[in-house]
Amino acid sequence: MPVNDLAAPSIDIPASADSLVSRIPGVIFQFYRSHSGHMNFPYLEGGGMALAYVDKQQLAEDASLLLEQLTGHDHPKVMSAIERSARWMLPLNTRFRLPFPEEKPHWIAVSANPEPIASGVRWNGLMMDITDQVVEEQRLRKLCDTDPLTNLPNRRKLMGQLTHLASMSARHGTPLSIMMIDIDHFKQLNDRWGHLQGDNVLKQLAMMAQSLLRCEDMLARLGGEEFMVVLPLTSLQQCHKLADRLRQTIADHDFGIGQGSVTLSIGVAEYHCGEPLVTLIDRADRALYSAKEVGRDCVCLLP
Ligand code: GH3
Ligand code: MG
Ligand code: MG
Repeated sequence: MPVNDLAAPSIDIPASADSLVSRIPGVIFQFYRSHSGHMNFPYLEGGGMALAYVDKQQLAEDASLLLEQLTGHDHPKVMSAIERSARWMLPLNTRFRLPFPEEKPHWIAVSANPEPIASGVRWNGLMMDITDQVVEEQRLRKLCDTDPLTNLPNRRKLMGQLTHLASMSARHGTPLSIMMIDIDHFKQLNDRWGHLQGDNVLKQLAMMAQSLLRCEDMLARLGGEEFMVVLPLTSLQQCHKLADRLRQTIADHDFGIGQGSVTLSIGVAEYHCGEPLVTLIDRADRALYSAKEVGRDCVCLLP
């Protein structure tokens, strides 16, 4: 074997740290905020796409040009992360959407360590484009929160929303009501028409109920043939009216198995400020039980 074949392959060693930095898939930066609030990037270098549409020269003078471009809630979120990090000298860890021309914004993760200096605070850190991870996270979260048959939110998602709305209701003194919905004699429907037809009824029912609701209301499939609706800013009386309209619409509809073959029993209840959510849900459940007791295809309420 020729001796030359054993020689190590030639390695393209970067001539300096600067030429290395331009090849990494991320950004290294130094960020500065003066006591008066002026912000800039004394150092901002790296590879990948994150700096493609960024004017480094401008940002070296004034960082607000970048920060003001941030969309949605990202601007206040990033500003309060900077504030917290500066106040407590804790690492700055956050993420934001960076607008890109003719593309969806890219998600950028920031991680930086603060250090106090005489005129303000200086951070040394990294930024990475994490768009692919965020898209995957969003896909998995949707999967966790969605009922695959009807595409409605599932119980898990609904409980999160109900918890949030109950705290808003308690804070602002606004009404909040819920509907507990159960299809009548669904087992018989399955037995007579088959499970596939049963599934069809569940899917159509989900779409029809959704179309009667406002976009701030949440309809969820709790499991089996049971659904729940959470209605913010809705009193018990308003909720009762809407529940009866839904009941009537379903009773009048022909799901392909004859009009009147699918009916609903609905229990309605209103949130009492500060009560545990299990108590509210239990009230709606008992109202639903009453609706079954009085003969089904009806709405009952418990204040
Ligand atoms: P009630 O009026 O008292 O509510 O009677 P019901 O028959 O609706 O109630 P029960 O709890 O006895 O039966 C519920 C049925 O729902 C039994 C089950 O086979 C059916 N079911 C649950 N999940 C699904 C589903 O995903 N698809 C279909 N087709 N049926 C389902
Ligand atoms: Mg049931
Ligand atoms: Mg049922």
